[in-house]
Amino acid sequence: MSVPTPSVTSGDNLRTTLEEGCAKNRWMQKLGELDWQSFFPHVASPSRTPIEQQLYWKLLHRRLPVNAYLKTKGNFVPNRGCVVCGEQVETIEHVFFECPNVQTFWKTFRIYMIKFLQMTEAELPEFTLRDTIFFFPELCKTLVPEELHVLTVCHSVALWAIWSMRSSANADVLLWPCFLSRLEARVFLEYENICKNGNISADKESINTFASRWCNDKSLVKLTTDGIIFSSS
Ligand SMILES: [Zn+2]
Repeated sequence: MSVPTPSVTSGDNLRTTLEEGCAKNRWMQKLGELDWQSFFPHVASPSRTPIEQQLYWKLLHRRLPVNAYLKTKGNFVPNRGCVVCGEQVETIEHVFFECPNVQTFWKTFRIYMIKFLQMTEAELPEFTLRDTIFFFPELCKTLVPEELHVLTVCHSVALWAIWSMRSSANADVLLWPCFLSRLEARVFLEYENICKNGNISADKESINTFASRWCNDKSLVKLTTDGIIFSSS
């Protein structure tokens, strides 16, 4: 079946469509209250690529074609649940959080973010479904813009990797490498984009911004005279 492809051009568009549907109420019943006014800009953030914004838009609107959704639309659905763990009903919550494989992924992701953001384990507690769907609503209030950019990129890439791997029987070994390779590509692309205008002073300012986002003391991204080096561990 075809799933409507949204145009996520602003937080306002998202707010209008989400508030007109029932998805917002269903999420709030599961995940509690949310300050939607400050949340919407995180979905249409320029730190997400258009494709990542669309994936997040569909996730929030509960319009991703998981088996539970397809059945409500009267579509024929093969008699299978989660191919990774065998759970019989494939829901959005299962795919993005509850599947044991994805639980392992989020645990590793958390340790990774603690390194990137130079936080303590106490400052970044174990993730909940609310954190992953509502984009860390409590944590976001404490971050500076550079940290928020890193978290937004990593969250976008994580959702994309989880969705890409959902039908793979080898997702237990492929999900983390899939996340890392996409993240590496995203960081390199960001670096390339700031180096291509040829204006040395503008480049220097942009490179400083890049470094303040990705290259802190214990960072996994190193800035060298020849470019950047991405370390995966
Ligand atoms: Zn599963």
